[in-house]
Amino acid sequence: MQPGSRTATPELSAEVWLRTKGLRVTPQRRLVLDRMLQQIGRHWTADELHEALRAQLSELARGTVYNILAELTRVGLVEELPGREGSASYGVHLTPHHHFYCDGCRRWFDVTPVGLGALALSPDDRARFDVQAVAVVFHGRCAECAPHGAPHR
Ligand SMILES: [Zn+2]
Ligand SMILES: [Zn+2]
Repeated sequence: MQPGSRTATPELSAEVWLRTKGLRVTPQRRLVLDRMLQQIGRHWTADELHEALRAQLSELARGTVYNILAELTRVGLVEELPGREGSASYGVHLTPHHHFYCDGCRRWFDVTPVGLGALALSPDDRARFDVQAVAVVFHGRCAECAPHGAPHR
C-alpha cells in the first residue's frame, strides 16, 4: 500500500514524503511541506505560505512557493481547492477526507462526514457516468463566524 492511502502516517517527515513520491529533497521543498505538515487540516494560499516561510528562508521567492505547491499537488501530497479572489488554497492530503467551506471567512476545513457509504448516483445517472471519486463539500459558517457563537453539536 502506498503512502496517502488508508495506512498513511501523517507523522512521517517532509523528507520521507518527498522521497516516497520521487521528488528530490531540496531545502525549499522540505520547508514548504514541513510547514504544512505542522498544521494538517489548514489550507493555505501560496501567498500565505510564502509570508509564513520568508522569516525562515529570506531568499524564498514567491514563484518558488507556487512551483513547489504545483509539484506537491501533482504527486498527490497536497490538494488544491478553489480559494479567495481566484487564488487557490492548498492543504496536505495524506488521508481521504472531505471539506467544509465557511462562507463567512472563506476558509476550508477538513471534515469526516458520516453516512457517505449510502451516497450513490441514481440509476439513470449511473448509466451516464463512471464515478471515480466522491468529493463532498459542506457549506456554512465555522464556529468563529457563526452569528451566535459555536454551532450546536
Ligand atoms: Zn469562518
Ligand atoms: Zn483538505
